[in-house]
Amino acid sequence: MSDLYAVFGNPIAHSKSPLIHAAFAAALGQDMRYEARLAPVDGFASAVAEFVAAGGKGANVTVPFKEDAFRLATRLSERAARAGAVNTLGFAGNEVFGDNTDGAGLVRDITHNVGCALAGKRILLLGAGGASRGVIAPLLAEGPAALAIANRTATKAATLAAGFADLAPVEGGDFGRYAGRRFDVVINATSASLSGEGLPLPTGVFAPGSLAYDMMYGKGETPFLRLAREQGAGRCADGLGMLVEQAAEAFFVWRGVRPQTAAVLADLRSGLAG
Ligand code: NDP
Repeated sequence: MSDLYAVFGNPIAHSKSPLIHAAFAAALGQDMRYEARLAPVDGFASAVAEFVAAGGKGANVTVPFKEDAFRLATRLSERAARAGAVNTLGFAGNEVFGDNTDGAGLVRDITHNVGCALAGKRILLLGAGGASRGVIAPLLAEGPAALAIANRTATKAATLAAGFADLAPVEGGDFGRYAGRRFDVVINATSASLSGEGLPLPTGVFAPGSLAYDMMYGKGETPFLRLAREQGAGRCADGLGMLVEQAAEAFFVWRGVRPQTAAVLADLRSGLAG
């Protein structure tokens, strides 16, 4: 019997994770099966229990269950504890191990695939939700010159920033706070594009040659990347690479081997273009 893995979410039909993990498993000769599982919004824990009873060895977790998964874990990695959210679960005996690979995936995509070192850079992170919280510690670990958070609800950005003060100085506030300031890397971790709304980004935040990175991805240019290009960002990248890299990190957590990601990313990219 192949080892069984799954991704849990609601909705889940759109998930690319089964494709990604099947490609990793084939490339590495790993005998495993990976499914997409829809869990009821109020039934995550029982859906996972059923999966474990059926022999499930590990799972990815996406919207809206990352905090449920955090609560379900009996042991957390340090990065998951920091993030307050879990996107990767491992099951062994009675233990439920919770990890969060989103931040590692983002950093790997920016530094390796996009080729932009983060050490010494001024970073502006847009949004103060779960995705933003999950990437702050991994970004700080790269040694940026500064990390600032902008959010529609300013108090959420300030509270989030204060929660990482033991690691490095992080500031937080509304978008207007950063008028007249320049950043080398601007990362969109808001869900504004989902509602078709633009972001109130002050003009001039993109330093010459800066990188605009959108955690969102889709067919064509995202609204944030269009805005960034119009405002003079030097380079633009969407979140498809982050998706593949967080999956590769989860695969490593489960199987102890690290998949190559370039071919899988190129296949997904051409699928989006088609
Ligand atoms: P949350 O719901 O936790 O947070 C949403 C954030 O977006 C909040 O900061 C919210 O501000 C802000 N926001 C929402 N609408 C607007 C708007 N119209 N104008 C300005 N700000 C707005 O979502 P997540 O943090 O979980 O996810 C954020 C995004 O990151 C999603 O689009 C998700 O798909 C993407 N993502 C991509 C990943 C990848 O692998 N590529 C991995 C994880 C996430 P406020 O606090 O004021 O409400």
